[in-house]
Amino acid sequence: MKSAKMSGLIVTFLVALLTSLVSATEPLKEIDAKVNDLLSKMTLEEKVGQMTQVTIQAVSSERGTVNTPHRLDLEKLEEAIVNHHIGSIINVYDVAHTIDYWHEVITQIQDLATKKTRLGIPVLYGIDAIHGANYTVGSTLFPQSIGMAATRNPDLVKKEGEITAYEVRASGIPWNFNPVLGVGRNPLWPRLWETYGEDTYLVTTMGAAYIDGLEGDENNIGASDKVAACIKHYMGYSFPLSGKDRTPAWIPERMLRDIFLPPFKGAVENGALTVMANSSEINGIPTHSDYFVLTEILRNEIGFQGFVVSDWEDINRLYSRDKVASSRKDAVRMAVMAGVDMSMVPYDFSFYKDLLELAKEEEVPMFRIDEAVQRILRVKFKLGLFDNPYPEKRMKQKVGSPEFSQVSLQAARESITLLKNDNDFLPLGKNSKVLVTGPNANLHTVLNGGWTYTWQGNEESLYPKDKKTILEAIQAKIGQENVEYVDGSSFDKITNIDKAVELARTCDVAIICIGEQPYCETPGNIHELTLPDAQLELVSAIQKANTPVVLVLVEGRPRIITRIVDSAKSILMAYLPGPEGGLAIADVLFGDYNPCGKLPITYPRHTNDLVCYDHKPIEVDDPNKLNPLYSFGHGLSYTSFEYSNLRMEKEAFYSKEPIHIGVTIKNTGNREGNEIVQVFVTDLVRSVSPPVKQLKRFKGVLLQPNESKTLNFTFYEDDFAFHGRDSKRIVEKGTFKVYVGDLSTTFELLDPDDKAAN
Ligand code: BGC
Repeated sequence: MKSAKMSGLIVTFLVALLTSLVSATEPLKEIDAKVNDLLSKMTLEEKVGQMTQVTIQAVSSERGTVNTPHRLDLEKLEEAIVNHHIGSIINVYDVAHTIDYWHEVITQIQDLATKKTRLGIPVLYGIDAIHGANYTVGSTLFPQSIGMAATRNPDLVKKEGEITAYEVRASGIPWNFNPVLGVGRNPLWPRLWETYGEDTYLVTTMGAAYIDGLEGDENNIGASDKVAACIKHYMGYSFPLSGKDRTPAWIPERMLRDIFLPPFKGAVENGALTVMANSSEINGIPTHSDYFVLTEILRNEIGFQGFVVSDWEDINRLYSRDKVASSRKDAVRMAVMAGVDMSMVPYDFSFYKDLLELAKEEEVPMFRIDEAVQRILRVKFKLGLFDNPYPEKRMKQKVGSPEFSQVSLQAARESITLLKNDNDFLPLGKNSKVLVTGPNANLHTVLNGGWTYTWQGNEESLYPKDKKTILEAIQAKIGQENVEYVDGSSFDKITNIDKAVELARTCDVAIICIGEQPYCETPGNIHELTLPDAQLELVSAIQKANTPVVLVLVEGRPRIITRIVDSAKSILMAYLPGPEGGLAIADVLFGDYNPCGKLPITYPRHTNDLVCYDHKPIEVDDPNKLNPLYSFGHGLSYTSFEYSNLRMEKEAFYSKEPIHIGVTIKNTGNREGNEIVQVFVTDLVRSVSPPVKQLKRFKGVLLQPNESKTLNFTFYEDDFAFHGRDSKRIVEKGTFKVYVGDLSTTFELLDPDDKAAN
């Protein structure tokens, strides 16, 4: 009976497997037939056009500003789409469009592409929707990725992806240049906040969740509420030696494979179909010309099937900036032969002209052009653009809906990380008299950062008036009469510190909101990680007046604040929490939300000590000892948790077996709290010096006072793989140490060959 049931189950399973394989491969086969049919009808000019992408700036007559409307230039548009067969257009000129205007723009573009060209191939429109549909007025915006990583909540990241996909597609756009899967290992880098932090596992996990949201679990990007992800910037861009954007990285192959490749590999395995190349260079090779990275690793090793788009102007920069190509045309040859399928040119048709000539001269073989065009057309078919390239009017109703903002608010709350809380100073009583001060207290721009309504995100007048700054949210929570306000300083200049001190003396507490102004990419370069003096002086002056100080850090990277930390009672790290950040911060300050965020980066203490948490044994003891201000993974709560009973199923595992561990967590305080349980592992001895610890699993658990729960985690040997002395991927048997909370245990990983021998 039992075995009959079993074989019945096996048959059912096999049938289900076959059906799923058939339904998964059928459409692809159909799509490939359509792609090949179309390709066979295309002229060389039409093919090269498909590989060309321009910015909307190249086809506009009016720039569009805060006060004046943008206008397309229909003649230029025709020149691009009809005469140059352009396959893709991107971006806004400067300023976010209303959804109705997006519909007009996309309709005009697709009308030309589908009705006025010989083959009617729709245009693939792409946009940077980095923290929500940030170029659509009235959309739902979220905390930037660095804050989303602090939540350690992949479900929320997935929801962000779903809402972003809905609102981007509702705008008529099917392609999003996100997620950023660079592992942010240099705190100076102005794009750190676009990443999910400094840890490979965290970036891989959050990246996968975001793609699931954007594309759906089955990567059904043809659905009317899904878009294609573009994973970027492949790879190593996130670790510039100087910390400045678009400067060289020096990354040994082992580190490239151990740290920077896994998030991309994970995303490719998860079905991502477009990749944007690293704008800079690794080990002296600009990535746009790097066959090893773009073809050998990406295609031959990790099996990427989609297309690679260049970053902004980066093919031409192989010539104009990097000096590896001898002419503009040579740069095109190098990039296409290295594996770039589409060029974000983005202002003109130079790529089109150069590639056409190169093909005619047989400097670029036809197979390479056909292959690139096939990959691009496949994505257009999968997106359903050949069936309907137009915006769906009915979808606009839900854009910016209150249920979506609620998700953003929850994400902002969960991201806030309580770094310090002397003697449970926070939460504050709602009858406290407070001074709110600091340059970040009363601005919307600072809560959102770059990629918000404009590239730099610094146009305060564009921000919705119904959202609240930190000051406004605190006033709403405890009553205007209980709140004093003065800015005290700007980001880098003292304005009215004396007034701030005077007001502080009349208050129970000073909430000082410090940090960064908005920036994006290279304009955000800094020469000094320490927070500007003016802000540190504002804090010191208030501390000297003996008013208790709470610091709220609103910043995209960990600016050094060491000299004001000891005298601060409490410190909240808010990152760039998005439009609901003001409310979320007020909720945490006054105890309506118990903070649970965990640092996704190491918070440095000193400017010359910028080492990530997964450092090496040689950095454990003085005088090399890594001594950050706050460690990766740090984050306090208003309640307390006790970890106990860390147990492994057994002490030794053969390397193919799953490894189960369990741990019990109890809420020992007197309020509800969400504890993020983080499991770190280290290989105690291995042939390449091991990181002292590495994050391998995490999970949140909500506990009432006195409640306890047991969490179980499973590892596989793959979790402990690294690249050995010969740069090959291996797992070495031996002893591993597991750390959870303040507990630790060890287990042995055995070689299955030993088992056979016994
Ligand atoms: C950025 C990319 C972005 C592209 C298009 C570039 O400058 O590096 O991240 O997707 O512009 O806006």
